[in-house]
Amino acid sequence: MDALYEEGIIPTYSFPKNVVSTYISDINGKVKYQVERGLDVAVGEYAPGRAIVVDKTTYQIGGLYYPGGERSEKNAASPAKAFIQDASYRKRIRTCNQCGWFGLEEDNPSTCPFCGNKALTNMLPMLRPWGFAPRNATSIETAQLNEEYSATQQPLYSTLPNADDVTVVNGCANIRMAVRSNQRIIMLNKGVGGKGFTICCDCGAAMPGDDPVVLKDILRPYRSRFAKTRCKHTDTANVNLGYDFVTDMLVLEFALDRQQIDINPMRNSWLNRAGQSLAEGLRLAVCQELDIEFTELVTGYRVRQNRAGDFVDIYLYDSLSSGAGYAVSIESSIRQLLTKTRELLDGCTCDSACHRCLKHYRNQHIHNVLDRKAALDLLNWGETGTRAPAISYGNQQHLLKSLKQILLLSGVHIDVGHETVWAEGDNGKKKVIVYPAMWTKPAEENAIFVSDVYLKYAKPYALKTIVDSL
Ligand SMILES: [Zn+2]
Ligand SMILES: [Zn+2]
Ligand SMILES: [Zn+2]
Repeated sequence: MDALYEEGIIPTYSFPKNVVSTYISDINGKVKYQVERGLDVAVGEYAPGRAIVVDKTTYQIGGLYYPGGERSEKNAASPAKAFIQDASYRKRIRTCNQCGWFGLEEDNPSTCPFCGNKALTNMLPMLRPWGFAPRNATSIETAQLNEEYSATQQPLYSTLPNADDVTVVNGCANIRMAVRSNQRIIMLNKGVGGKGFTICCDCGAAMPGDDPVVLKDILRPYRSRFAKTRCKHTDTANVNLGYDFVTDMLVLEFALDRQQIDINPMRNSWLNRAGQSLAEGLRLAVCQELDIEFTELVTGYRVRQNRAGDFVDIYLYDSLSSGAGYAVSIESSIRQLLTKTRELLDGCTCDSACHRCLKHYRNQHIHNVLDRKAALDLLNWGETGTRAPAISYGNQQHLLKSLKQILLLSGVHIDVGHETVWAEGDNGKKKVIVYPAMWTKPAEENAIFVSDVYLKYAKPYALKTIVDSL
């Protein structure tokens, strides 16, 4: 780090305001545009492979860069080196393959704090970006642009939750709450398909992917009069982009019961939809109540399983640029805020989510999992300990109707009786029962159970369930 200060490469204050810029230089290597963003946004939107438009010109991000290093003869060929070797920029990450937890190696985790697994493994190192620059240090014709999208995963907190700091939320059957200070939050962009990014440790050229070949035709992301020959990118590293910071947070812990509730956390599962949507609903309710911008607060959820049981945590913390203590300030009014959240979720007429309730520009990346009804189910469970009611027969018929034609093509005939829907294939006939996705899948002889969520949002899967059961 000291070397960097001496060279004047990095300002002597550390990580000013948690922002980072994309630098676009002219043909002589002089910075013409500097586009600044919060790190939380930049790690997704400025990731190598992504395109940005500045002053009507399109650029594809093609490396990490901070102006200055290329101006000295000594560093011109390898301005990225000092950053990559700096432990505050490149951090080792340990992960638990059983539950998906990950945390910094510098915190010396020996066992997974969430599930107790002792066999932690290494994940790709996390590289905190120091700045971005266009591919080949120049603009790109839109016709040649093959933009590669990667996004930041939902932020995860990684520190050990203290079992004894949680208190029961008054009047709630299954919700407990904790205010936790100094929680480490990690945000990661794992590249396209989880392969991270390959970066040249000398020039900083970077592209998504884990094979150095992705840098084959890529030039340095900057120009320097001292670096005349092409960088051969002989020293590369495979990394995730990301950063970590420490904040205070409010955690609502929902105790689940796997005998009753489906705890599968896959993308389209009830638990994922419910957790994500309730977190989003709570964030909207709190922002309205405190009269603050939506961007001031961050929410997320995570599923935890350990010897004590299954939990989903809904957490809330001040955004990176805020730090005003909003998240923690709501502890005393949490009941009120849960009521407000309920009103927000309940007060719409849409089927899953719309722009009048949960959707808005800032949460586009999760629009397809937002589901106010799933969130209400989870909130009900938390407050009263009751599950979603069984689906009326009329509704079951209605949901199954949408599959009737396509089932016929698979040789399955749907027969709607007075009280039962039957599915008949070449090998037999069984009852079809639609159940609320919140439930653990029921079992009964000669019956096929299909969840309402699969019928609504994953028809091919519902179809397969029925066809395979006959
Ligand atoms: Zn674990
Ligand atoms: Zn290089
Ligand atoms: Zn709505």
